[in-house]
Amino acid sequence: MAMRVKLWGVRGSLPSPHSPEQLDARLRSVLQEFFKRGHTSPAQIDAFLASLPLQKRGGFGGNTACIEVFSDTTSLIIDAGSGLRRIGEKMMGGACGLGRGEAHILFTHFHWDHLIGLPFFIPIFVPGNQIHLYAVQPELEDVVRMMFTKPYFPVPFEQLGAKIHFHRLEPRQAVQHGDLRYTPYQLDHPDPCWGYKFESAGTVFSYCVDTEAKRLQPAELGPDLPLYQGVDLMVFDAQYTLLEVTEKINWGHAAAPIGLDLAMREGIKRVLFMHHDPAASDDKIADAERQTREYFQAYQESARAAGRPAPVVEWSFAQEGMVVTV
Ligand SMILES: [Zn+2]
Ligand SMILES: [Zn+2]
Repeated sequence: MAMRVKLWGVRGSLPSPHSPEQLDARLRSVLQEFFKRGHTSPAQIDAFLASLPLQKRGGFGGNTACIEVFSDTTSLIIDAGSGLRRIGEKMMGGACGLGRGEAHILFTHFHWDHLIGLPFFIPIFVPGNQIHLYAVQPELEDVVRMMFTKPYFPVPFEQLGAKIHFHRLEPRQAVQHGDLRYTPYQLDHPDPCWGYKFESAGTVFSYCVDTEAKRLQPAELGPDLPLYQGVDLMVFDAQYTLLEVTEKINWGHAAAPIGLDLAMREGIKRVLFMHHDPAASDDKIADAERQTREYFQAYQESARAAGRPAPVVEWSFAQEGMVVTV
């Protein structure tokens, strides 16, 4: 069976829940639309909700970066953003709740939005569990120990119930983990950040968040080019619109059209865009998706006009909770 990916957190920089006022306004507009369409029965609710665009119902999600990658026999977690809390809740229903479980978390880098879920990952407190943490950066252990230090957190590292194992990864060196093989490649971010390419059962998934993608040409990417080659599914940084990217140079994030350019050139089959700006409303994210669609359609039309085949890439903006088969 092919790899599967579950997106537990797709927001960038800061967990971003809806405010009560925003939720009330959303509820009001949904109810108005329900009655405007002449619906009266609870039996019509599911079909009605399914007919609404994402930004008019649940939205894109507010938890920060946390992704689970599954193969037939094993799983890995990428980053410990606030989405990790819900993975912990899920795991507590299995062996982790009995203290006989294990978890494997790969870190891209140590900005808060990729760490903040770790102290709220319940399996880490259960004696008997084995928690394995991996990073290219040598400061992994120092960073994690610092998080579990007063006054930042009440439970010191030494009192965590689970056994914590630290693993240093070598840049661009593949690691076999069960039937998943993964390789770290460097991204373009203000502090060193490593994306990962996963391979299993003939399918390839690349995780490219957080990155400004300053290096785009093959010669610039050099040893990191394989991150984008032979890829079935890529998750890419789209914190900003194209206009915002030009205003936020060196902020470390990209825009969806930049990822699409890479995907079209490298023949990547499917792209999901995430690390949505915490300041962006669901409407603004949906508008960035619309702008990206116009960009993509213009590219396809110009290819056809030039007598070239229009590039085919399946893509969308990621929503928290999505499960995708690679
Ligand atoms: Zn981030
Ligand atoms: Zn970052």
